[in-house]
Amino acid sequence: MNTVIPMPAQPSLPVTGQAGRFPVRRIFCIGRNYADHAKEMGASVDKANPMFFTKPADAVVTDGADVPYPSATSDLHHEVEMVVALGAGGSHLSADDARKLVWGYGVGLDLTRRDLQAQAKAKGAPWDVAKAFDHSAPVSALVPASEATPTAATTITLEINGQVRQKATLGDMVLDVGEILAALSTLFELKAGDLVFTGTPAGVSALQKGDRFRATLGDIVSFEGKVV
Ligand code: MN
Repeated sequence: MNTVIPMPAQPSLPVTGQAGRFPVRRIFCIGRNYADHAKEMGASVDKANPMFFTKPADAVVTDGADVPYPSATSDLHHEVEMVVALGAGGSHLSADDARKLVWGYGVGLDLTRRDLQAQAKAKGAPWDVAKAFDHSAPVSALVPASEATPTAATTITLEINGQVRQKATLGDMVLDVGEILAALSTLFELKAGDLVFTGTPAGVSALQKGDRFRATLGDIVSFEGKVV
């Protein structure tokens, strides 16, 4: 394509054991998908009306890059989440059909400017500045679904400076992956390249410059990084 400004870079994620990369189209996130996290935020779970928000594709931080501490906050929070990567799309899907869209799995951090989120909640304002800022989506390499089978017993864990801050099993999710994707597909046409952050368990807390994190999804995948 002949462009009038330089073509923006296509965000992508590495894939374990393969040279090819996964191009990222959109990033969808579900809120309040673990009851104990909803409770710690003073919110309640509404299983029939899941709450979604988005991040821009170029918010991904990957390949071991450092995470810069963002501007305009003094309360940057970590939320460790399983991330599913879609290899196909669709609209108005059943949970069973939606599950078939999953190309691979990863683990990521839904980084949040918690102070700005609290202000937005108080004003009934959008969450974009709290959730969709630059570098707000560190993500591991992806493992193809053909090689990984997360189950209800699979653990999701986040350590900060060697201390466990968040730990849960996927069975604690309010909506499972198929149910999340089915609900999303009534609101957006899902497409190959989409990432979906599947919610965080309890234990969210503040990150500081210099903190090292390690996020793991069972024995499927893990990644480490540093806030700078
Ligand atoms: Mn989250």
